[in-house]
Amino acid sequence: MPDWNTHVKWASTLGIDREIAEFINKLIDDPEEVLKGDPTELGELYRRDPEGVKAALIGHDWGRKGKARLDILKTYCRIRFGEKGVMAAELHHVLDYLTHIRSPENLARIIVSSSIFHATSGKPLSERMKLIKEFYRDRRDYSRYLKKLTEEIAKLNYESYKNIIIELLKNKTREWELHREVYDFVIDNLNEILKDIDKYLAKKRKRIARSQSINTLDKWIGN
Ligand SMILES: [Zn+2]
Repeated sequence: MPDWNTHVKWASTLGIDREIAEFINKLIDDPEEVLKGDPTELGELYRRDPEGVKAALIGHDWGRKGKARLDILKTYCRIRFGEKGVMAAELHHVLDYLTHIRSPENLARIIVSSSIFHATSGKPLSERMKLIKEFYRDRRDYSRYLKKLTEEIAKLNYESYKNIIIELLKNKTREWELHREVYDFVIDNLNEILKDIDKYLAKKRKRIARSQSINTLDKWIGN
């Protein structure tokens, strides 16, 4: 989700070759382009079943499906580039995730869904699914609750926000089976990484504002 320059910058700082980092950015964010010309087995697979391979690789889904995708991606990176390639893919996912949860609303959603997930743990799966469904369907105040939590998060000071981020990263490290080295690297550089993400998000906001004002002008001109 941050721009590729930011991904490459941090991958290089972690000691990953630029070319590997650039390739993996493209593989994750624009797989079609990469796989079309890929001579390996994955390229072959892509030509036979483009939709299947895309479904396996693409998507910034932070749930369990995300884990299955990440496993396929990691296996591929390991075969092509060894452990450094795997680490580059992991770092890409972590940076995208950090960008995603930089939005208070996205963070609030994750906190709500993980608390309901934990609250129902230990129950049989079918009962659990029922409870989770009910929670989202029947709780009339769900959106109000989400809004309140979003506002609270937006008001947090930086240190408190960072502590939440670190907790979530620890969970992701277990869930995604990240290299310890990647986790340590991100924690050591968290302040600088978040600064880069904020810079990226500010630029993106400006771009959106600009395109919206152009739309408005178009409308005026059209009238
Ligand atoms: Zn990405």
